Amino acid sequence: MHKMPELPYAQDALAPHISRETIEYHYGKHLQTYVDNLNKLIVGTEYENASLEEMIKKADGPIFNNAAQTWNHTFYFCTFSSQPQVIPSGKLLVALETKYGSFDAFKAEFEKKATGLFGSGWTWLVKDAAGNLDIVNESNAGNPLRNGLTPLMVMDVWEHAYYIDYRNRRAASIQATWNVIDWKKVEERF
Ligand code: MN
Repeated sequence: MHKMPELPYAQDALAPHISRETIEYHYGKHLQTYVDNLNKLIVGTEYENASLEEMIKKADGPIFNNAAQTWNHTFYFCTFSSQPQVIPSGKLLVALETKYGSFDAFKAEFEKKATGLFGSGWTWLVKDAAGNLDIVNESNAGNPLRNGLTPLMVMDVWEHAYYIDYRNRRAASIQATWNVIDWKKVEERF
């Protein structure tokens, strides 16, 4: 049985950037539904005892969608903190500066990609096997693990992620999300 991740903060701890109501719906209802659906779908299949990562790499259709959405949301919610380190440091900062010129230029490029993703999906900061950074868009439940890339950070650009707090203003939601991303966690993944 796949379980809900525990949030490493209180449901109102990310406000005003992400409200308690958004967490109640996005974590409490949307993620719960993906976890519940996955647990029903895998019964009697070859994925009954598989990890989320195995299903992301091999499964298709509803099992892929619900496994990936469970992984993606767990990763997303666990990147936030109520007391985040809001700027990267060390080797990750050097890598971002080398690739994009500055941390601000990286943020601008990430925002451009995330606002430009048509429809529902996820914008990821990833690294490849050689350690090179990139920003990639994935539609719907897409996850870069399927392409052999390592996810470092993600923003959810499905409307359900921001419609309660920001209505149609995806760009405003993305800008607000920088305030709760804990780069200490991203550095550990790098
Ligand atoms: Mn979502």
